This record gives sequence, C-alpha cells and structure tokens, in this order.
Amino acid sequence: MANRDQPIVPPPGKPFRLAEFDPENTSGTSKEAALALIPSLRLGINELQDLLYADRRYALLIVLQGIDTAGKDGTIKSVFQEVGPLGSSVANFGVPSAEEAAHDFLWRYHARAPEKGKVVIFNRSYYESVLVERVDSLVSKDVWKARYDTINEFERYLVAQQTVIAKFFLHISKGEQRERLQERVDNPKKRWKFREGDLQERAHWDAYQEAFEDMVGRCNTAAAPWHVVPADHKWYRDVVIAKAIIALLESLDLHYPKPVAGVEGTVVE
Ligand code: ADP
Repeated sequence: MANRDQPIVPPPGKPFRLAEFDPENTSGTSKEAALALIPSLRLGINELQDLLYADRRYALLIVLQGIDTAGKDGTIKSVFQEVGPLGSSVANFGVPSAEEAAHDFLWRYHARAPEKGKVVIFNRSYYESVLVERVDSLVSKDVWKARYDTINEFERYLVAQQTVIAKFFLHISKGEQRERLQERVDNPKKRWKFREGDLQERAHWDAYQEAFEDMVGRCNTAAAPWHVVPADHKWYRDVVIAKAIIALLESLDLHYPKPVAGVEGTVVE
C-alpha cells in the first residue's frame, strides 16, 4: 500500500519499491496553494542560480527521468521559467548517433556536464542505459547490470569535482499516462508529439517499473540521491522539484565574490 508520508528521497542503499510511492500524493497541498506558491519558487531558483554563477565554485547537474509523458518537458518549462539562458541550458538525449554509440556509454553525457557556475538540465540521461536499453534488450543483461556501479562511480567523480547532482524521477500512474497519451491523440496541438512507438513502450509498462526500481534502488547514493516525485499532479510535481532545488542550492552556502578593494564608495560621474 502506498505510504503518503514517504520521504521524497528514499533511504540510500536499500532496495526500492515503487508500490510504496503514491504518484497521486500531494501531501495535503491544495492546487490553489501550489499555484500561488510556484511563482515565488521560480524567482527563488533564479536568484540562487545568479549566486551560483557569481560564486563559481559549483556546477549543478539536474537529471530528469520518467516514463513517456511523465512531464520532463513540462517541468523544465515551469520550474526554470525565470532562469535565463545565460546561466542554464538543457541537454536532450535521444537515440544515440552512430558516433555516440561507438563510444563508451557515458561519453556523450560527460561532454554535456555543466561547468562551474552553470546549471545543465539533462532531459533523459545516462540512466537510459539501464532503462530503454534494458527494457528493449538493446544490450545484453551482463552489459546493463554492470552499468549501475559504473554510473555510481561516474557520479561520485563528478561530485568530487564540485558538480552537485540533483536527480528527479517523475513517477506517474499507468492511468495518468493513458490520459496524457490520449490527450496527445485528441488535441491537434499535441498530436505531433504522438508516436506509435509510445504505445509499444507503454506495453512494456511493467518492465519499465522494474527498471525504475533498480535505477533508484541501485543508484540512490549519498553523493547523488534520487528524488522520487509524485507526478500525477503537475502543480505538485513542480512544487516538490522547485523546493528540492532551492534547498540544495541553499545548502551550498554560496556567496557573491568580495568587490575589488576601493570599489565601495566610488561615485560614478
Ligand atoms: P522525449 O520523448 O524525451 O520528449 P524524443 O521524442 O526525442 O524525446 O525521444 C527520445 C527517444 O530516445 C526516446 O524514445 C528514448 O527511449 C530514446 N533514447 C534515449 N536514450 C537512448 C539510448 N541510450 N538508447 C536508445 N534509445 C534512447
């Protein structure tokens, strides 16, 4: 039975069961309250991003994963609405090109990791190497099984290099996915997003849930914890993610650099 008081970050190092996480959970938050709060959270993220850039000690990597229609694009549009292109960018990862596929599986992701002072949002990520590649049997079981440890090592390395990693798994129910896919079919403005492959992937729902459980269970480390976000309600999803990013940035104790000596009191004619 889903527990509504589950922490958003499950205890690291333990097997993870999705059934314990209710995708409809809103922790008693009303839609009105969430919608009233979101604008100030967006401004808060923008201010902290400005500070991250001025401070220049840390990079922030945000990883978004979730089944088709879970709301990765919607999250980026909403949560980062106030953050301009100066300080942040989005890296979308689709089917690897021939060049990408010929390299080690982390190559294309490492190349897009953020520099200090910047925020990069991974819209899908190296976790696809243990999701679609596992579910669709694009690589053998031996290959994808070995990748969890490699991913943990990669994240530990990035964290040691002052990259802060915030990973969000957008958890939606099967019923909610049905409604969102149907909306894509029915709404002429969304129809372009619908691909027949979406239905084939939906047919693998259970295999994806298992792959998500292993992804969170095996790669939920102290260095780079997973946040499991109840995402059936978009407004609650945005509040959870925005608050987590703000808490993380606040925990870094960021500072504006000291002004050059003698600047204070200068009068500009
Ligand atoms: P999205 O569905 O995220 O809006 P796209 O329509 O470009 O974006 O789809 C990206 C596609 O790329 C997805 O079907 C996803 O499964 C696939 N993909 C991502 N990473 C890999 C990978 N490593 N191997 C194979 N397919 C991948």
